[in-house]
Amino acid sequence: MKDFDCDLFVIGGGSGGVRAARMAAQRGARVVVAEAAALGGTCVNVGCIPKKLYSYAAHYAEAFEEAAGFGWTVGETHFDWGRLKAARAKEITRLNGVYEQLLRGAGVHLLQGWATLCDAHTVQVRTADGDQRITARHILIATGGTPLVPAVSGREHVVTSDHMFDLPEFPKRLLIVGGGYIACEFASIFNGLGAQVTQVQRAARVLGGFDADVSAFVAQEMRKHGVDLKLNATVAAIEKRADGLLVTLSGGTQVVADTVLYATGRYPNVEGLGLDAAGVACDARHSIVVDAHYRTSVPSIYALGDVSTQKQLTPVALGEAMALVDHLLGPAAGKAARQMDYALIPTAVFTHPNIGTVGLTEEEARRQFKDVTIYRSEFKALRHTLSGSQERTLMKLVVDAASDRVVGLHMVGADAGEIVQGFAVAMKAGATKAVFDSTIGIHPTAAEEFVTMREPAPAG
Ligand code: FAD
Ligand code: NDP
Repeated sequence: MKDFDCDLFVIGGGSGGVRAARMAAQRGARVVVAEAAALGGTCVNVGCIPKKLYSYAAHYAEAFEEAAGFGWTVGETHFDWGRLKAARAKEITRLNGVYEQLLRGAGVHLLQGWATLCDAHTVQVRTADGDQRITARHILIATGGTPLVPAVSGREHVVTSDHMFDLPEFPKRLLIVGGGYIACEFASIFNGLGAQVTQVQRAARVLGGFDADVSAFVAQEMRKHGVDLKLNATVAAIEKRADGLLVTLSGGTQVVADTVLYATGRYPNVEGLGLDAAGVACDARHSIVVDAHYRTSVPSIYALGDVSTQKQLTPVALGEAMALVDHLLGPAAGKAARQMDYALIPTAVFTHPNIGTVGLTEEEARRQFKDVTIYRSEFKALRHTLSGSQERTLMKLVVDAASDRVVGLHMVGADAGEIVQGFAVAMKAGATKAVFDSTIGIHPTAAEEFVTMREPAPAG
């Protein structure tokens, strides 16, 4: 049998690549990782982690405002963008180091540089010390995705989420294009930090794939917090003026902004990867096509995470990596081989207030089941009886009437992501509405509402 330089060559040291490399090395495989930028990928450097840190920063604004209702006198507050950026950068650098230690500790060989496929078993890496060609029994492509900015007049003036964490100046006037995860989260974050935020979404609702009730509710709450959300609106042109960027919307409305953020989706990082040289096939969206075991059209080459999945989430990339390693090297001693289950993937959107959701939307459930029962509760959280905030909470259960199984669970409200994670376990275990009803609530919490909803919402 041909001897290769390594057993597994991983292109991309992000969420999926690092997890696959580390686990494979721990099982005794000879592993090489090539990373062109910073270890940790999107999630650690320009995604989940810095975003959540900035979201925490933004929530303090509400806390200061609400404190008076609880007897506190808070003096004049001042937000320092430079200090937040420096604190974030320090923590991200620490995490980069943790990732490096984890990989080196597991015996992974790290290469800093851009990797290109030469053929089914060979990768070339452009490092500072020159090009290196390495042969591998298996190659894993885990190169993630990149922001997609559509053609628009003045496109050269806009930024993407990659730039937002380190903007030289805090954008006092921020215009955001898009209505997905990133647009809604950044609208909430920068609004909380004190920017005047205009959000321009082409559709009639934000968060298109979410339950329609959730979309409408979060839009209402974001507006209450101060986001100027314009639905059914598109950008016609962006011009640089002395006083800022003049954004003209298709209806003629004009908005002046310091920064224009396009958050209009992400596409797979496949450019300059040499997919053609190796014969790896992509679909019309440029996603690498894989089978149930993440194998591409070339049997020795695999792909996972944002470069090939429809669900661009860190835990999905991690789950795929663990399933792949079990597939290639066999499961860990005494364990069954992991399989990735794409049903019931919970997700949160860190808007203010947060969204947490798992399972089917009401619309999906009505298409899938003959008879669907909805339980819906909307209320002012206990904290806001004194805080003075007008924020409200939404909770919704979608139940298949025939089996009584809870097939969808949705929340808009404080800590929704934290709350929904536990319910996702119950739903994966097949919990019925009767099980929810027989569960004792934790009082006084918002979460207890999920186990005390007794009356179905009126039909229609
Ligand atoms: P990545 O983590 O993107 O890693 C790919 C790596 O490959 C990168 O480091 C890149 O530099 C490297 N690379 C690319 N091409 C090459 C090459 N040719 N040679 C060498 N290296 C290469 N998900 C959540 O679950 N929760 C969240 O709260 C969340 N928030 C997000 C917020 C933002 C602003 C963004 C943009 C994304 C967010 N995500 C979130 C999504 C999450 O970050 C991604 O799904 C996840 O990082 C995908 O992991 P990956 O391993 O596929 O790719
Ligand atoms: P999304 O796919 O979530 O949203 C894209 C948005 O851009 C949609 O509102 C879409 O409108 C709009 N859009 C698309 N094309 C255009 C266009 N040409 N002109 C105007 N608007 C357009 O992408 P994001 O960039 O927000 O995020 C990428 C992915 O990253 C997410 O899907 C998610 O998987 C992941 N992510 C996860 C987070 C989390 O877990 N909390 C946080 C951030 C990102 P329409 O609604 O009409 O389609």
